[in-house]
Amino acid sequence: MSPPREWLKPPRSLLLILFLVTLVSVSALAWFGWKVLDQERDVEARRAQERLEQAANRIAATLRGALADTGDRLGAWVMSPPSDGQPDQGLLLIVSDNGFSALPPERLLYRPFPSPEPETEPAAFAEGETLEFQQAQPDKAIDWYRRLADSKNPAVRAGALMRLARVWRRIGRIDEARTAYLDLAALRGVRVAGAPAELVARHELCDLSGSQEDAEALKKDLLRARWQLTRGQFGFYWSEAGRLSGREEAVPEEPALWSEVAALVWEDLKHQQSPRGQSTIWVDRRPYFLIWRGVSGRVAALVARPEAVLKPAVSDGGVSWASVDNEGRVIAGRKSGSGHAVVRTTAETELPWTLYFTGPQGAKEAGMVARQRFLLLVTAVMVLFLIAGAYFMARAIRRDLEVSRMQSDFVAAVSHEFRSPLTSIRQLSEILALGRAPSPERRQVYYETLVRETTRLQRLVEALLNFGRMEAGVRQYRFEELDAAGLVQRVVAEFEPQIADAGRHIELEAAGAPCRIDADPEALSVALRNLVDNALKYSPNCRTVWINWKRDNGRVAIEVRDRGMGIPPSERKAIFRKFYRGSAAAAANVKGSGVGLAMVRHIVAAHGGEITVASEVGQGSTFTMLLPAGADQP
Ligand code: ADP
Repeated sequence: MSPPREWLKPPRSLLLILFLVTLVSVSALAWFGWKVLDQERDVEARRAQERLEQAANRIAATLRGALADTGDRLGAWVMSPPSDGQPDQGLLLIVSDNGFSALPPERLLYRPFPSPEPETEPAAFAEGETLEFQQAQPDKAIDWYRRLADSKNPAVRAGALMRLARVWRRIGRIDEARTAYLDLAALRGVRVAGAPAELVARHELCDLSGSQEDAEALKKDLLRARWQLTRGQFGFYWSEAGRLSGREEAVPEEPALWSEVAALVWEDLKHQQSPRGQSTIWVDRRPYFLIWRGVSGRVAALVARPEAVLKPAVSDGGVSWASVDNEGRVIAGRKSGSGHAVVRTTAETELPWTLYFTGPQGAKEAGMVARQRFLLLVTAVMVLFLIAGAYFMARAIRRDLEVSRMQSDFVAAVSHEFRSPLTSIRQLSEILALGRAPSPERRQVYYETLVRETTRLQRLVEALLNFGRMEAGVRQYRFEELDAAGLVQRVVAEFEPQIADAGRHIELEAAGAPCRIDADPEALSVALRNLVDNALKYSPNCRTVWINWKRDNGRVAIEVRDRGMGIPPSERKAIFRKFYRGSAAAAANVKGSGVGLAMVRHIVAAHGGEITVASEVGQGSTFTMLLPAGADQP
C-alpha cells in the first residue's frame, strides 16, 4: 500500500471522515445563520428607513404648522402688539414708518436708528451760548438759561437745565450744578442733544460725585435698556460708566448681538417689498431666523435662533437632524454621517431650509447585535467542540496505535525471554537423554541448570498469568499483618545466590526496624521483586542496590534505590503503563517485557497505597511503595 493509503487506514480514516462531516455541518450552520441574520438586517434596515421617513414627514409637518402659527400671530401683532408679555422666543420687532419697538425691550441694548425727535429749538439757546462762550459773561448766561428753564416745553427746559448746570460747573459752583442736573434727571422721557435727559444728567452727576456706586447703577440701567439709545450713544455711555465705576468691561456679547441683529433686520425690512416672508440672516457667523408679516406700512417681525424654532418640533423619536440653508451652511442641529439618512428639501416642505435626518444607531440595532453575538457564540462553541472532539479522538487513536505497537514489542520481548531458557533446557535434556554427559558431576550441574531454567520459565509464566488476572480484576488478595522487614529480607534472600556470582549485593538500610503492614505477602513480594529486579537491571555499572523501609505519616514506605541510568522526566509517568519500555532500556539493550511496573502499580493500588519515583538521568532512581500501616502501628 502507498504511504497515504497506509496512513488513511481505520481508525484514522474514520477520524478524518468525522472531522470533515462536523466541519461541513458547522460551516453550513454558520453560513445559514449568517444568511438569516443578513436578511433580518436588511428587513430591519428597511423598517428603520421607513420609520425615519415617517418621522421626517411628521417633523416637517409640525415645523410647517409651527411657522404658520407664528406667521398668524405676527399678522395679529402688526396692528396690536402683544400686551400680555412677550413672544416665547427671540425678539419681536414692530416697525412702522415713524416708529420701532422691540419686545422684550431689554433684549436690545441699543437701537438701529437715531431718535426721531427733532433737535429742540437751537435758536432759543443761541443767545445764552453767545453770553456764555463769546462774551464770557457766565452770570448773564445763567440768568438767560434760568429763564428758559422755566419754560413749559420740556425739551426747552431740559436744554436749559443742561446748559445751566454746565455754566455752574465751569465757574466752580458745584452744588448749584448738581441741583440743575438733578432737575434734569427728573425729566423723564425727554431728550437733550439727542440723548435721554435722564441719562445725560446721571452721567454728569456721576462725574461730579465720583461715586462708583452711582456709576455701577448707571451700568445696570444701561444693560436693562432703560433708555432708547443709538449704538454710538450706548458705546459712549457704557465706556463712561465703566471708567467712572473703575471697572471697564466689554459690552456683554449676547444682548449686543441681538442689537446687531435688530439693526440688520431693520435694514432688511426697510427695503423689503413683500408683506410676508421668512429668511435667515447671519450675524457674527451665527444664523438667525427671521419671519415677518406686514400690513399697511407696519411690519411685525420675529427673529429667533433657529434651534429655538426647530428643537421643539424635532425633539421626537430620537432622530438626529440638521437644517441647512440654500448655500449648504448648517443652520441648526448636526449633520451626522452615519446611519440611515432622509432628506427633505425646501421644495418638498415649503420650509426655508433643507432638513437632514439620520436615524438613531445604537438602540435600533441593539437586538441585531445581540443576535449576531449569539450566533458567533454558538459557532465558536461548536468549533470549540469540534476541535476538542477531534483532539480527544486523535489522542485516543494515538494511544491505541501506541498500545498495539507496545503489544507487538511485548510479544517479541516475551518470546525472547522464553526462547533462551527453552533452548538451554532442550540442549541439556538432549545431552542427558543421549547419555553424553562427560561425568556424574557434570550431569549434576546439568540437572541443577535444568531446575533453574524451568523455575525461571515458571516464574515468567506465573508473572504473565498474574498480570493477566490483575488486568481482568480477578486476582484475589489475601491480606494479613506482616512485618515489612521480614518481607524485604525474604525477597533479598531469593536474589542473593543469583547475584553473588556477579559480585553484586543488596544493602538493607533499615535492617531490623519493624514496620507492620496489612498486605498480601505473595503479591507484595512480587512487587518488591520487580523493583529490585529493575534496580539491578538498570544499574549495570554499580554493584549495590539499596532497600530501605520506614514509617512515613501513618504509612510505611519501602524504597528501592539504585545508582543506575535514571529515567528522563518525560517518561516518569509512562513507565507505569503496561508494555511501556523506557528509551534508555531499549538503547542499553536491557531485556524486559514492560509489564513489571504496571504490575507493581496494580498491586500497590490494591493495597490502598501508591508508588512514586524520584530519578535523575545518569544518577539513579528511587522507587517508593507507600502502603497503609498495620492496625497496631503507632
Ligand atoms: P521492563 O523492565 O520489563 O522494561 P518495567 O515495567 O519493569 O518493564 O519497567 C518499565 C520501564 O521503566 C523500563 O523499560 C525502564 O525503562 C524503566 N525502569 C524501570 N525501573 C527502572 C530503574 N530502576 N532504573 C531505570 N529505569 C527503570
